[in-house]
Amino acid sequence: MTLPLKTSVLYGPVNSRRYGRSLGINLSPCRYKECSFNCVYCHYGLTDKITLNTNGHDDGYTECADVIEQLQDTLESPLEIDLITFSGNGEPTLHPDFPKMVDAVVELRDRYRPGAKTALLSNSTGLYREEVRRSVAEIDLPVFKLDAGTERTFMRINRPAKGVSFESIVEHLANLDGIYVQTVCIDGEPSNTHPDEMIAYYERLQTIQPRGVHLYSTDRPVPSSSISRVDPEWLEDIASQITSETGVPAAAYSNGKKRLGA
Ligand code: SF4
Repeated sequence: MTLPLKTSVLYGPVNSRRYGRSLGINLSPCRYKECSFNCVYCHYGLTDKITLNTNGHDDGYTECADVIEQLQDTLESPLEIDLITFSGNGEPTLHPDFPKMVDAVVELRDRYRPGAKTALLSNSTGLYREEVRRSVAEIDLPVFKLDAGTERTFMRINRPAKGVSFESIVEHLANLDGIYVQTVCIDGEPSNTHPDEMIAYYERLQTIQPRGVHLYSTDRPVPSSSISRVDPEWLEDIASQITSETGVPAAAYSNGKKRLGA
């Protein structure tokens, strides 16, 4: 059984050992799952509407003014918050007003919680929009998904919307400074952990030169029975291998806890 979608724009704060209390901002629809990927391991299950292009608002997207009003109310409350994270039910950068939203969230953070950081968990597909790429520079902890070293594995694991290009994602990631890469390692069918794929993945990391790599596996229920979890010890080995092959610091996480790495 996969997890239910979040039913609100704001959620949490959830505790993160690394960053403290993180308030989540869900910019995606709550009544159905919309994303530019349909990942085989997504803990929200299969994507109902796979699209890269959300031109204009449909009834599933919350207006920017509503998001900002809710966030302002929360930041005016005594709730303790260390991190404000764009994440949620799908891909945050699909929201048509994502850049405007980032400006407003940073302004509210500066006004009410200057000590808190902002974060983005993105699947990287929104980077084809120049205004999204500009917004990334405003975010303290931008984290981008890269689950494959080859186009073939990318297509099989992430099952992207029409118009998404693996090579252009890698190119955009390589042109950004100070980003983190997040990778979900899986075994079975499909897999991104067999030796040839790992070599190709290391090459992509060398091109991108992220500030760090965060490795996870499937700690929660997944929609596909043909994939299997990479156990914590294997994940630690992969993290060590990444660092020795590419020089990029890599950390392995299991069940939300860091097992190894910077
Ligand atoms: S990008 Fe995230 S939300 Fe979208 S299908 Fe993949 S895991 Fe699920």
